[in-house]
Amino acid sequence: MNILTDKNIKHIVESLYKSNLSESISIMEVCGTHTMAISKYGLRQIIPETINLISGPGCPVCVTPASDIDTILEITENYDISLFTFGDMLHVPGSRSSLYNKKSEGKDINICYSPLDALNFAKQNPSRKVIFLAIGFETTIPLTSVVIKRAYTEKINNFFIYNVHKLIPEALETLLKDERIKIDAFLCPGHVSAIIGSTHYNLIAEKYKIPCVISGFEPFDILESIDMIIKQIKNNKHEVQIQYNRVVREEGNPFAIKLIYEIFDKTDSIWRGLGNIPDSGLKLKEDFLEFDAKIHFPVKKIRSKEPPGCQCGDVLKGIKKPFECGLFSNICRPDNPIGPCMVSSEGSCAAYYRYEQLKV
Ligand code: SF4
Repeated sequence: MNILTDKNIKHIVESLYKSNLSESISIMEVCGTHTMAISKYGLRQIIPETINLISGPGCPVCVTPASDIDTILEITENYDISLFTFGDMLHVPGSRSSLYNKKSEGKDINICYSPLDALNFAKQNPSRKVIFLAIGFETTIPLTSVVIKRAYTEKINNFFIYNVHKLIPEALETLLKDERIKIDAFLCPGHVSAIIGSTHYNLIAEKYKIPCVISGFEPFDILESIDMIIKQIKNNKHEVQIQYNRVVREEGNPFAIKLIYEIFDKTDSIWRGLGNIPDSGLKLKEDFLEFDAKIHFPVKKIRSKEPPGCQCGDVLKGIKKPFECGLFSNICRPDNPIGPCMVSSEGSCAAYYRYEQLKV
């Protein structure tokens, strides 16, 4: 598919070439859907070489640390529970096994498309203890909140969540403080920003003097957002702009935000590759601790380790591109993933493997 036949796209690409940047700039996208779209439509290959698109920690499966995978595996090993999770999580390797392996061994592990599936299963099977592995950024947290609220109201006492939800804005600041990473601008996530709005990025744009543009997901959206960033850089500006204005409002979705903080409080959270980030995670408020799987199913801590040779940590920080990992494509492939970035449908390594192998 040659997207340059679209005259709007051709026009925006021409504008990028006319910008004549004197030095190379790095734009980080922090949304796995952007990562996939950039690779799928070959956007890296049609823009000037001076614009370096790097991927950040925008894939929730990828940033879930091995310690959480190991803990949930221990829970399945030690308790007779029914676990529900989104499909990608099944194949993410922990230190010793994966949920897929546990399922093959006969553990009751199920793929679901919504936490409501897990809650409904719990209601229909009151003798089973049901855990939903609650993963995702601000986009998916409101739905987990709805489910907890419903379980609380309906007094469902066999439903729990293992919570690994994470918040994006706090991670961006951590990346900017790391001197090994060169980030000149952020291509901000469209879905997350539909919930949180644009004001969260003001502090980042102001403090670190970098442009932030909230982008949609079509090739034209992404290219136009890059063009908006370049124009800011050329004009010495560092503002927050909303390209995806057909969906994202400055104030976000106040109803969804209220829902999140009715159920959760902010807390520190460990991200794969980025370590502990203050206030980048959520914990259940005291009234809802009865649903916390970490409290109800304690397990001994095991010493977690990253897969040998896997560079996911550096890939998630934009320090390395997937093909710079020695395992990429020869050993680590979607049919034999060594790290989470090759497992997830939003992972950078999977994106490069599927769409960019012949282009690098
Ligand atoms: S190619 Fe595989 S092993 Fe290397 S960083 Fe990516 S997921 Fe990890």
